[in-house]
Amino acid sequence: MKKGKYGLTTKVLFALVIGIIVGILVYSMPSGTFKDTILVDGIFLFLGQVFLRGIMMLVVPLVFISLVNGAANMGDVTKLGRIGSKTIMFYLTTTAIAIVIALTLGVVLKPGIGLDMGAVEAVEVTARETVPLVQIFYEMIPNNIVGAMASGSMLQIIVFALLTGVGISLLGEKGQYLSTLFEKLNDLIMKLVEIVMIFAPIGVFGLIARTFSTVGYSAMIPLMKYIGTVYIGLLIHATVVYGSMFKIFAGLSLRKFYKKFLPAMSVAFSTASSGATIEITERDMGISKEVSSFTIPLGATINMDGTAIMQGVASLFVAQVYGIEMTFAMMLTIVLTATLASIGTAGVPGAGAIMLTLVLQSVGLPLEGIGLIMGIDRLVDMARTAINVTGDAVCTTIIAKSEGALNEEIFNS
Ligand code: ASP
Repeated sequence: MKKGKYGLTTKVLFALVIGIIVGILVYSMPSGTFKDTILVDGIFLFLGQVFLRGIMMLVVPLVFISLVNGAANMGDVTKLGRIGSKTIMFYLTTTAIAIVIALTLGVVLKPGIGLDMGAVEAVEVTARETVPLVQIFYEMIPNNIVGAMASGSMLQIIVFALLTGVGISLLGEKGQYLSTLFEKLNDLIMKLVEIVMIFAPIGVFGLIARTFSTVGYSAMIPLMKYIGTVYIGLLIHATVVYGSMFKIFAGLSLRKFYKKFLPAMSVAFSTASSGATIEITERDMGISKEVSSFTIPLGATINMDGTAIMQGVASLFVAQVYGIEMTFAMMLTIVLTATLASIGTAGVPGAGAIMLTLVLQSVGLPLEGIGLIMGIDRLVDMARTAINVTGDAVCTTIIAKSEGALNEEIFNS
């Protein structure tokens, strides 16, 4: 076996399987110092925490920097006028719909019931008191931005970041330097994510081994239910939502669309990166370059329907495994946070799971829940990325059609 022969995906999946096997073996061992202190609360805990904390460390700077960037670029986009605002509206609306579907599925299918994470992590669960709806909205505005960052108040950070980005783009020429600076900072933060991700296989092993050695096989079913629920959500979104959008706004055939779009989806599926798929997404749909050359890259950056579905299901999953009741106000906050966060989610593997910390944090759900989800995230990432890029292409097709920039002969051929 040559070093570097296997990609991160393979390594993570391998770590996942080994983690499950080792975890189940340890589960069947009798309790004692070796099992409890050295393995479960020693090695496994350490490996998992190093990785998790590495990710958490990056959340606030990542969200802030990438959102400032996203908003600064969107500022440019609005200069493009009608098409720009139409595109942004479509992208954000479909993402919000995606989260609503995901939350509904999470409530109905209850993927997290049957696993008691309270036993694995001694997380203090303080159910949030219900707050009036207006409060959720006005509290989105931070009264102290440093305070918001220190306490990880994600909605507040998002609002400030968006404002900063818009401010930079309004500065025009004078804002050029800042805009470049934030682009560079974005490169830096992406590099840091890459570095932390080197630890993903080891971290995943620790997290999964610890879960399985504490709860045994019983962890398997909820995790599979979680994956299944996300896949169902993705399927509904890809057929029902996109199908009705095509019907209502464009009168085009979704079947024909998918026939043409399948290659792009498979690239997205195998790379788990919308960014890596931009070029192939732009090809051959009969859409004028003028439209697609700006809506597709923009979509790959700000439109993440698949990711939003994962985040919705994951939030409920985490709430359920920790026995926390999800209130309507919490769900509303999740819709808001995840929609806004999608603007700042990079089109690279695993970005959605990192942004999930932000979503969980916004409603006070235990971040430790991510440990479980991280372990199997790659399996979900591939599918959600395919839907992420599909969403970009669906919106692009509809907008192209409405602008008379779609060659229907090519589209239908
Ligand atoms: N991998 C996804 C994408 O590139 C983002 C995510 O992790 O959800 O679209």
